[in-house]
Amino acid sequence: MIKRFVEKVQTLFTRRRRAGKPRQVLRDEHGIQRERVPRSALRVCETLQKAGHHAYIVGGAVRDLLIGVTPKDFDVATDATPEQVKPHFRRAIIIGRRFRLVHVMFGSETIEVSTFRAAANGEQAVDAHGRMLADNVFGTQADDAARRDFTINALYYDPTTETVIDYHDGVKDIRRRRLRMIGDPQGRYREDPVRMLRAVRIAAKLGFEIDEATRSPIARLADLLGNVPPARVFDEMLKLLTSGHSVACILRLRAEGLHHGLLPLLDVILEQPEGERFVMLALSRTDERVRAGKHIAVGFLFACLLWHEVLKRWKELQAAGAHRIPALDAAIDEVLGRQTEKLAIQRRFVADMRDIWMMQPRFERRSGRAPHALLAHLRLRAGYDFLALRGAADEAPAELVTWWHDFMHADEDGRARLLAAAPAPPKGEGPRRRRRRRPKSGSEAASAAGSAASS
Ligand code: ATP
Ligand code: MG
Repeated sequence: MIKRFVEKVQTLFTRRRRAGKPRQVLRDEHGIQRERVPRSALRVCETLQKAGHHAYIVGGAVRDLLIGVTPKDFDVATDATPEQVKPHFRRAIIIGRRFRLVHVMFGSETIEVSTFRAAANGEQAVDAHGRMLADNVFGTQADDAARRDFTINALYYDPTTETVIDYHDGVKDIRRRRLRMIGDPQGRYREDPVRMLRAVRIAAKLGFEIDEATRSPIARLADLLGNVPPARVFDEMLKLLTSGHSVACILRLRAEGLHHGLLPLLDVILEQPEGERFVMLALSRTDERVRAGKHIAVGFLFACLLWHEVLKRWKELQAAGAHRIPALDAAIDEVLGRQTEKLAIQRRFVADMRDIWMMQPRFERRSGRAPHALLAHLRLRAGYDFLALRGAADEAPAELVTWWHDFMHADEDGRARLLAAAPAPPKGEGPRRRRRRRPKSGSEAASAAGSAASS
């Protein structure tokens, strides 16, 4: 009886809030410590408020502050237009064409300031599957809250009054550790299929449950990701892989059925049984680095993800009679040719990947001038880290990894001693072979040999 009554009152309240009345959560209840907000974000809010505007910290930062996680970046939402915002700050630029935002810079920090905007209202452009193509009208704060993805991402913190404004019960969902879509999940995924990836990433990052109604359409609608421009999927996958929780994200993606054939990158990770150990090790090392606040080199990460594809092709080409180094070169060309476009890997990362891979057989040459020549390689550090990862995955001898570590850190005498003590390379993997065997047969071997001639 009492439960019924409470439910009724709750429903009434939710309706009222849906009609645009938010809940105001005071400091005692939300517990956010103002000191945890950087001065830059405080300055932006205070300056705009003094000029008569509303300004709030919004999105992931409020969510993270409520949970006690250190936010990655701080965004501000305001009722001021970009043209009204810009003149208040010494270093500010308006960016974006469709929807303009202001970037306010303080030293190395950037605060992104966006004007409240409204969600799709039927008049906006959508593609044949309902995907929103533009999202560019100004709106009220209530509109702005409603167009955000999850309830926990639609919270506004006013650092002056220390109040959190909550239109969609986000504070409650944070307490319940639940990720819940605002509005009808299916429609919201259709509008923007990337939200499926965001759901998985944010839930994995926070260790939250995905609410059943938010979770259940994912497997069914996963195909829609195929309509999203590959560059956008790449950006989101990169966020996922460098979130510090990539292993948890990958496992969740698999559990939600968001892989096979949809996300080529995920197929790369999950559909190669022999490489899975290596890839998972690479991802867990990446997670450790991110959590320790260290830099992640995207080229290195992708070199890890595609290594077993290269390795497989390299072996095949050698089996067909191609020489070791030209075969690797040709295998790399093939894999990059196939994957760069599919995965939308940006060109600037490709050179790093190639260098890292091409260096691997060179580490095995431990006589003459070859090791010294390798020391001068610009990407030696990345190449060595990759070798060490192969060692950790039992794919390269531990002795080789240690030898290179010592060689890189030794003085000239030490290096001479190491060279004298280095074991002979495994048969067939030594210094350049003098005798050239002809490729046996078949077009693959011929093409590998062709690339040998050109390299
Ligand atoms: P992170 O901690 O990874 O930065 P975030 O939630 O802050 O997570 P951002 O990409 O920085 O993610 O987005 C900032 C805010 O913009 C989100 O909190 C959410 O309110 C809104 N948002 C981002 N992407 C979408 C989307 N695809 N649909 C609706 N709202 C979105
Ligand atoms: Mg963010």
